[in-house]
Amino acid sequence: MLVAGHLYPDLLNLYGDRGNLIAFARRCTWRNIPVTVREIILGEPVDFRELDFLFIGGGSDREQGIMAEDLRRHRDNLGEAIEDGLVVLAICGGYQFLGHHYQTGTERVIPGLGLLDLYTQAGPRRLIGNCAVEVELDGRPVRITGFENHSGRTFLGRVQPLGRVLAGYGNNGTDGLEGVRFRNVFCSYLHGPLLPKNPRLTDHLVSLALKRVGRNPALAPLDDRLEERAGAAALARLGLG
Ligand code: GLN
Repeated sequence: MLVAGHLYPDLLNLYGDRGNLIAFARRCTWRNIPVTVREIILGEPVDFRELDFLFIGGGSDREQGIMAEDLRRHRDNLGEAIEDGLVVLAICGGYQFLGHHYQTGTERVIPGLGLLDLYTQAGPRRLIGNCAVEVELDGRPVRITGFENHSGRTFLGRVQPLGRVLAGYGNNGTDGLEGVRFRNVFCSYLHGPLLPKNPRLTDHLVSLALKRVGRNPALAPLDDRLEERAGAAALARLGLG
């Protein structure tokens, strides 16, 4: 049984982010891999080490301000779980939280958990639009697509990016980098939702979660023709056909 967690589902769920968990769970159940989804609400106790996959979605600056304090009490436990191999997908606002801080457009500094060496600073205009990124999965280049809408510009320290921007802005619109990859943590600015649009990335996360519980990470193939056509259309629209 895989245990998937959704952190603050009622506060962090922009642009259909919840679809990431639905895609993760569906691609498990289509292969008869039992999975349960646990929602983690503000103020609720949780031991992240008991999870195999954690999803953190995006939020507005206002929502991020509300949950920053609650999140702080989880810092050490989440850090231990990450060191222990917890698979994490964090999008946009959720991604910013894992870094040192997010300085909003109103000069307010929302503290992050500091679990990843990065920080975010709001810029003068929002970075909005469809985006394509080349990532490496199991040694092979894969093009993923999504939609970004953020004012934060994220700058990386001693962590690797998730991939390189082919079209769109990515982390900050200047250095050509998108997201972060650290142990089994994957961060990205791409909403979409990301996982339904990019089944190869979803399967990569499912395999990592299976490894975490000591199960065979090899996955039976699924019929992804529709997803592949949608992905190709999204790339073509960005001039990357
Ligand atoms: N509020 C953050 C920003 O504007 C995150 C936005 C989001 O999650 N889409 O950068």
